[in-house]
Amino acid sequence: MFTKKTITDIEVQGKRVLVRVDFNVPVKDGKVTDDTRIQAALKTIRYLQDHGAAQILCSHLGRPKGEPAPEFSLKPVAERLETLLGKPVIFVPDFIGEQAQYAAKNLKPGEILVLENTRFEKGETKNDPQVSARLASMADLYVNDAFGSAHRAHASTEGVAHFIPGVAGFLMEKEIRYLGQAIAEPDRPFVAILGGAKISDKIGVIRNLLVKADQILIGGGMANTFFHASGYPVGDSLVDVEAIPTAKEILAEAGNKLRLPVDVVIADRFDNEAETKLVQVGPIPDGWRILDIGPETVANYRKVIEEARTVVWNGPMGVFEFPTFAKGTFGVAEAVAACRGTTIIGGGDSVAAVNLSGLADKITHISTGGGASLEMLEGTLLPGYAVLQDK
Ligand code: ADP
Ligand code: MG
Repeated sequence: MFTKKTITDIEVQGKRVLVRVDFNVPVKDGKVTDDTRIQAALKTIRYLQDHGAAQILCSHLGRPKGEPAPEFSLKPVAERLETLLGKPVIFVPDFIGEQAQYAAKNLKPGEILVLENTRFEKGETKNDPQVSARLASMADLYVNDAFGSAHRAHASTEGVAHFIPGVAGFLMEKEIRYLGQAIAEPDRPFVAILGGAKISDKIGVIRNLLVKADQILIGGGMANTFFHASGYPVGDSLVDVEAIPTAKEILAEAGNKLRLPVDVVIADRFDNEAETKLVQVGPIPDGWRILDIGPETVANYRKVIEEARTVVWNGPMGVFEFPTFAKGTFGVAEAVAACRGTTIIGGGDSVAAVNLSGLADKITHISTGGGASLEMLEGTLLPGYAVLQDK
């Protein structure tokens, strides 16, 4: 449930507002190659500009090791933001040093300043109060619109709000409303679809969804681990070995809530041009690997999905990056698109798959945060959200 103040609940006119955004976008040769995340923050940025705030934007980008690294500079992001807004954007190659402080102090209402990568500062990921305090000293108010980073308690995502009042931006509000509602008070039937590569990262999610959801449909590499746990040899399929004991426990607890594929596509190599076979689920010969769910499984899952009133999907059903093994993922995407209930998709690769399927506009909510959306599905309160002021 969304219970926090947003930027519409406070006076921002003439205030200096520090906005934490998620501008962690791909950059190649000094150019942003996918600006989805910048676009997702525009609503908040425009609102603050139209309401006379002087905005100081900050974000991390990539994984620099607590020191400046030119390939992770936010300069290309500031340039793209300027193009998208059609308004000037000031960039300083500094996060909380003299130069940043000076630029922030001289910022006028309506102006936008982008600071350098928050992770050029060691204390950022350690949530160092000294970093938070310096950051806070640049502004009167803090706005967190970085849903994708809200599951981490860092100086710019959490710590800073202990020094100046913090409220939510529009993106944060939207994400928490959809995901929070789905997990706390879903319209039923509530169906979860889980796939992707690693179970370990998603065990907490399966456990929480076993309590909350009516059906859990499993696909992707995750299914392989469950097959292995139920005693089938899976050949050369991707298996999350560490997760096998937990997979066994889950199988024992789950009853008929958990559905596994009944047919799969196997291949003699991890390659789009591999030789393939469609087989019923059973022992997979050595030298072969499961790379997709089969058509019978898609048809079974489709029936469940079509009747759902809430669908949450995380993790592709197969190696959709190869067209040969994308049918299961796209088939499920079609079913989700056709579902008339609330449909939510989270996870970097799942979102990429749905974009590729061309069905993205038929989905109720596409989350911008992979890790953050998973933690919400796990039932964890996100620290970057929890720290904001209650309404
Ligand atoms: P998300 O980013 O949506 O959370 P993950 O990162 O967990 O999803 O997993 C996505 C990856 O899982 C994709 O790159 C896809 O190719 C891979 N994958 C899906 N099914 C299989 C499979 N059967 N074998 C190997 N990899 C798979
Ligand atoms: Mg991924």
